[in-house]
Amino acid sequence: MLGQQLNLQELANTPWDVVVIGGGITGAGIFLESARRGLKVLLLEQQDFSWGTSSRSSKMVHGGLRYIAQGDIPLTHHSLKERERLLKELPDLVVRMSYFFPIRKGQFPGRLSMQMVMIAYDALASIKDHEWLDANAVKTLFPALNGKQLKGALRYTDALTDDSRLVIRVLQEGCLEGGMARNYSKVSQITQSEDGSLQLTVTNTRHSETKPAETKPASVCISAKHVFNATGLWADQLSGTAPRIRPQRGSHLFIAKDRLAVESCLTLLHPDDKRYVFVYPWKGETCIGTTDLDHRFDLNEEAFCTEQEVDYLLKLVNHEFPDVNLTRQDIHSTMAGVRPIIASGAGRDPSKERRTHLVWQSNGIISVSGGKLTTFRQIALDALATAHIIDPATHKALLKGKSGRCFNHVLETPKTLDQPLAGIASGAELEQQVRWILQHEMVQHLDDLMLRRLRAGNLLADAGASILPQLKPLCQQVLHWDDQQWQHEVTRYLKICKRYYQPQVAAAQEFIAPQAIPGFNA
Ligand SMILES: Cc1cc2nc3c(=O)[nH]c(=O)nc-3n(C[C@H](O)[C@H](O)[C@H](O)COP(=O)(O)OP(=O)(O)OC[C@H]3O[C@@H](n4cnc5c(N)ncnc54)[C@H](O)[C@@H]3O)c2cc1C
Repeated sequence: MLGQQLNLQELANTPWDVVVIGGGITGAGIFLESARRGLKVLLLEQQDFSWGTSSRSSKMVHGGLRYIAQGDIPLTHHSLKERERLLKELPDLVVRMSYFFPIRKGQFPGRLSMQMVMIAYDALASIKDHEWLDANAVKTLFPALNGKQLKGALRYTDALTDDSRLVIRVLQEGCLEGGMARNYSKVSQITQSEDGSLQLTVTNTRHSETKPAETKPASVCISAKHVFNATGLWADQLSGTAPRIRPQRGSHLFIAKDRLAVESCLTLLHPDDKRYVFVYPWKGETCIGTTDLDHRFDLNEEAFCTEQEVDYLLKLVNHEFPDVNLTRQDIHSTMAGVRPIIASGAGRDPSKERRTHLVWQSNGIISVSGGKLTTFRQIALDALATAHIIDPATHKALLKGKSGRCFNHVLETPKTLDQPLAGIASGAELEQQVRWILQHEMVQHLDDLMLRRLRAGNLLADAGASILPQLKPLCQQVLHWDDQQWQHEVTRYLKICKRYYQPQVAAAQEFIAPQAIPGFNA
């Protein structure tokens, strides 16, 4: 289990078959698929698990209507097959959800073309679950929705998850198969020996952050037969090849349910640019997203949602729900993620860049980036095939899904762990959840617990400050934090929330020149 703590020196003394760099969904998938093949595998993450893009997605396990509309059939097909697999195997974590696409008079795409898309979408998933609802039925489901020119809506099906908890679940499965994972451990250099083995310099970033007095963090050198660079946005820094990643930011707003409640997901067209934007229920809140922009900020800083993005998303909501009159005061929190898009080099509109993944290699390092949360298993299998860990016939059979389950272990997690937080944000259930998380999920900082394990930073008003007194004795007991460390952690956590989880006015000096972004030539 992840709760098992490893010291860096022990890692250095072990000859590893596989080292995976990056603790997002891509790295977690490679970690699991390597571990289940009996390999000695270690995963290293520079911050917390899922700290990168994998805790900041739209949380949809989906084929993506717009990808099929763009003609990306293989991506949609694989995604839908994986969606169906995850729905069956992780029913508490991946939940089927109805999506509604409203159709108005004169709108393009209209009912007929969307109906064709949905027939194809269902066929690729081997299900039949879409229907037409007239305007009255739509107004019954979404009373606040603008009724002007409304003809009706097409209902189809996709799924929602908690992306960060999905990463933890995949990592737990990999650990139960014999793998080892460690967060707050940064790989700064990789070299290849004459015998082909690889040496990695790993720095412990835990102590330098929690105990400011210890200024020099410890580094060790570890050795492995195979190294997978699954660092997403940061892949260019370790790949040893020319840059390929075009960072594209997408931001979300979290709104209290009593200001805007939806029971299902709405797929809406933004009035300005006709991009798809979703309004959907997530763990007791309403989530609105996303935007899609070239990300020109320093990649070493967490991404944040800018004021302009807030305006763009509020404009959509107030256009579609005119009587709700949503304002900035209604925003509980924001969440910005940055996609590691494989640049086409064609200077395309960000929304038109393809979302497929790429595996490439140089000097023994196998890099993998791009893709989707939903397709993590396929990405992992492609990476393992490139490393010749699985042969082409096995690879093909596994992709077709002829290999049994992806998740075979049962985790005795508290029953309420994957339920909306607001409903249990006090009392014994919260205490039971937190104790389990602290014991089994390698929490190093308060922000690991609040932002990525519980999601309280996004889901509760004031970043969940009201539950902190309840958490203090638990953190002190299980993590052995004294009063000084608790105070240090609270200060750090609230600073992160204020800076990165609230709308921000971007300072000019934070921008990177556009020519530094691969594929960007506008
Ligand atoms: C706004 C938005 C919405 C999205 N919505 C969806 C969706 O609804 N459904 C879907 O399927 N997909 C979605 N995606 C795509 C999906 O989130 C990403 O494809 C996926 O999370 C990428 O995962 P990753 O593991 O490759 O990268 P990451 O999650 O970023 O993981 C890479 C990790 O590597 C670590 N790292 C970097 N350098 C080092 C180093 N030197 N040493 C150690 N560790 C290092 C980083 O800290 C990071 O945690 C969305 C993406 C965005 C941005």
